[in-house]
Amino acid sequence: MSTDRVVLVTGGNRGIGRAIAERFVAAGYKTAVTARSGEGPEGTLTVRADVTDAASLDAAFAEVERELGPVEVVVANAGITKDTLLLRMSEEDFDSVVSTNLGGTFRVVKRASKGMLRAKWGRVILISSVVGLYGSAGQINYSSSKAALVGFARSLTRELGARGITANVVAPGFIETDMTAALPDETQAEYKRSIPAGRFATADEVAGVVTWLASDDAAYISGAVIPVDGGLGMGH
Ligand code: NDP
Repeated sequence: MSTDRVVLVTGGNRGIGRAIAERFVAAGYKTAVTARSGEGPEGTLTVRADVTDAASLDAAFAEVERELGPVEVVVANAGITKDTLLLRMSEEDFDSVVSTNLGGTFRVVKRASKGMLRAKWGRVILISSVVGLYGSAGQINYSSSKAALVGFARSLTRELGARGITANVVAPGFIETDMTAALPDETQAEYKRSIPAGRFATADEVAGVVTWLASDDAAYISGAVIPVDGGLGMGH
C-alpha cells in the first residue's frame, strides 16, 4: 500500500537504519534520516544530528519539518555498544551507551511527539535487541539500555495511546552488519548453532517488520515487542 507520510529514521547512513530507510522510500514515504557522517540512501533527506545532543536533534527536526512536513513516523535506531565485563566496565562505558541508546531514544521521541500530538496520529518504533531480555555477558550497559526500551514503549502507549499514537519495540537478533561481520568465523558459527533458524538475518528482514508496524495494518498494535531473531529469544 502506498503512502506519502513523513518518516524519520535515526542512524540511517548504514546498517539496519539504512535498510529501514530504503524500505520506507520504496513504500512511498517522504523519508528523512539522521546521520553524524555520510548520507542516507537514495531518495532520502539526510539531516545532521547527534542523538546525545537535544539541540542538534531540534535543528534536525526543524529541517525535516521545513522540507517534508511534520514527522509522523519515527524510528529510534541509532545505537552503540561498548562491551566489557562488569568489573572492567567504566562509568564512561556505561553512561555513554545508556545516553545514546536510551537517552537518545528519549530525546528523539520527545521531540517527535509534539507534531504527533498535534496531528492526533503517530507511529513510534524503537529498535531494541534480543539481548535486552535474553541478557548477554559483557553487555551490562547495552542490554540494560535495550531492556529499558520495553518500559519506554509501554509507558508511552499508556500516555499517548488514546491520541492515535502507537509505540512498539522491534528486537533484532543477530543481523548481518559491519558489527557481526567483524566477529571471528568460529564465533559466528557458534552463534549460528544457538539460533533455531541456523543463520543470521539480513537488515532488510528487520526493515520489513518496521515498515509493517508503521502501516495501517498495525494500527491496533501498541506496547508490543516484536522479535526478529530466528527464534533465539523464543518470543521472550
Ligand atoms: P551500526 O553500528 O551499523 O550503525 C549504528 C548507527 O547508529 C549509525 O548510523 C551511527 O551513526 C548511529 N549512531 C550511533 N551513535 C549515534 C549518535 N550519538 N547520534 C546519532 N547517531 C548515532 O549498527 P546496526 O545497524 O548494527 O544497529 C542499528 C540498531 O540496531 C542499534 O540500535 C543496534 O543496537 C540494534 N541492533 C543491532 C543488531 C545487529 O546484529 N547488528 C542486533 C540487535 C539490535 P554514525 O555512522 O554516524 O556513527
